[in-house]
Amino acid sequence: MKPFRLMLTDHLVILYKLHERMDLYEPRKATRDELLEFHSEDYVDFLQTITPELTAKLGEEKLAKFNIGDDCPIFDGMYDYLGMYAGASLDALRKLISGMSDIAINWSGGLHHAKKFEPSGFCYINDIVLAILNLLRVHPRVMYIDIDLHHGDGVQEAFNTTDRVMTVSFHKFNGEFFPGTGAIDERGIGKGKNYSVNVPLKDGIDDHSYIHLFKLIMEPLITKFQPTVIVQQCGADSLGYDRLGCFNLNIRAHGQCVNFIKSFGIPMLVVGGGGYTPRNVSRLWCYETSVLNDVQLDSKIPLKIPTYDWFGPDFSLHPQLDGRLDNKNSKKYLECVKTDILEQLRYLNYAPSVQMQEIPPDITGLTEEEEEIIRELNEDKDDEKTRKARDMKDEARLGEVMAS
Ligand SMILES: [Zn+2]
Repeated sequence: MKPFRLMLTDHLVILYKLHERMDLYEPRKATRDELLEFHSEDYVDFLQTITPELTAKLGEEKLAKFNIGDDCPIFDGMYDYLGMYAGASLDALRKLISGMSDIAINWSGGLHHAKKFEPSGFCYINDIVLAILNLLRVHPRVMYIDIDLHHGDGVQEAFNTTDRVMTVSFHKFNGEFFPGTGAIDERGIGKGKNYSVNVPLKDGIDDHSYIHLFKLIMEPLITKFQPTVIVQQCGADSLGYDRLGCFNLNIRAHGQCVNFIKSFGIPMLVVGGGGYTPRNVSRLWCYETSVLNDVQLDSKIPLKIPTYDWFGPDFSLHPQLDGRLDNKNSKKYLECVKTDILEQLRYLNYAPSVQMQEIPPDITGLTEEEEEIIRELNEDKDDEKTRKARDMKDEARLGEVMAS
């Protein structure tokens, strides 16, 4: 989860000139009040005040209360980091709501495990839940699609009891694999019954079976639920050769799923997620940026990239990532999964409608006047200074790599 993977992604996106195809925004950090829209006050207070030095002085009990440990350590600058990735997802949804963007991407977001009261699996603040809560102020129905290797438990839990958010997660499941949830019979509760969809998979799933199953399930779900906006989580740990992974997916296959969802023409918020082999995470998110922009990229990675050596020995955007593991998903097993889910779909009411409240003024995006002020402020920035700051940031991130 080191930010180095984002630096590599930046480098690839810029060298392939994809930034020229998009509008770029520098978001502000999420405020404490924005975090409190989902997270509990004592948890946010804890995140705001805790430091590595203080952690050493705290008793086991307090650390256990907030699930602090191996998977969720306390580190320097943590609160700033959380505010930045959460703020970026919030800014992205504002751009969708105001109609400034039809697809908004935040590769630093997608931290789907975080819970209301505690962090989980490297996720501290659940930027996805915060984004969906805000989208619900304007959108009658939100669909959340998660193709990370792990179950999107934090998001499912947050919207378990509503029929206005359908969560769909494709993930490895055997009852033990982190986070342990995501069985096919977890379908939601009360009014939300049948609006949580879980697709449990076994080790080694390959491109063909994954794409085939993904399309067979997503097509009828979208047609029936008719979401007015889609949040797509693109966790990269479902790729083959991921350091913590156990699937056999290639970059093109992962991207094909994203492209399939894009083809419905529904506004999308696209976020990152897990992914523990940085060179492949960045290849994937660069490729998916190109897919979302309808751009074809040359597979050969441009020579000018400062981190070029990381992409050897093939220096390709599409190294072969399949074949490391046997595919444990038999045709029969996948057929059963598909049948079960299509059966669940039969119980769904047609797209539930809601009476929309008046749109709160704080979520309709910035006024033109405000946008103009921000533009001027950005133009005023001393270019030289900005470049130096960027170089320093890159250097610091490189330091992390050497230390790892
Ligand atoms: Zn994951």
